[in-house]
Parts: sequence; structure tokens; C-alpha cells
Amino acid sequence: MFEVTVEQVFASAHALRNYKGKCENIHGHNWKVQAVIEGERLDETGLLVDFVDVKNLMARIIERLDHQHLNEIPPFDVVNPSAENIAEHLYRELAQGLANAPVPVRLQSLRVWETDIQSATYRP
Ligand SMILES: [Zn+2]
Repeated sequence: MFEVTVEQVFASAHALRNYKGKCENIHGHNWKVQAVIEGERLDETGLLVDFVDVKNLMARIIERLDHQHLNEIPPFDVVNPSAENIAEHLYRELAQGLANAPVPVRLQSLRVWETDIQSATYRP
């Protein structure tokens, strides 16, 4: 089994609904996103996935969230923009994009850090 990891960052604001505490107020984070992709075999070049392709795919997905107030854009206008829900959302978007990868791969997990010491991971 091979595993590759790609990370990206973006900045956005959010406010947690249904929460009593500081995080119910609008505030921002520099989010770090880490995707772990796994698969059984490599392509002719010896790659599981091309890092450049994954980076571009992640950049396209993240672009919609970057420098936004997450509570105002779908699905976070309805779904609470917690780190957990952001991780699940990004997982689903990225997994869909990876479905067209040249070699069959599986998105193992997607982790989102909202600070250097706090993160949430989604894996199905
Ligand atoms: Zn926050």
C-alpha cells in the first residue's frame, strides 16, 4: 500500500452556531488542510498520484472558501462550519475529484487544523 500526503492552507472566518462561548462570535483562522491518499499500485512513472494534480484539485476546492465568511456560503450557510464539518465537506469534494485519477486511489482521510495545536479529521 502506498500513501501520499498533500497539504494546503487557506484563510477564512466562521462563527459557530448553537455554541456558547467565544467561538460563537465571528473570528478567523489560517486553516491547514491535509489530505492522505492511498492506493495499491503506481502508474508507469512510479507515482500513486501526481502531487501537482492533487495540489491543483485542492486549490480549486479551497478557492471557494478562501477569504470568505464560511457561514455565508454553502454548505455552511446551513451546516455549522466546525472544523469537523469543514473536514467532511473537503473530504467529499476531494474524493469526488480523485475519482478520475489515472490509477485507482482512495482518499483515506482529510484533516483540518484551525490552529497549530487543534485539528479535526474526517475519514469515512
Ligand atoms: Zn474557530
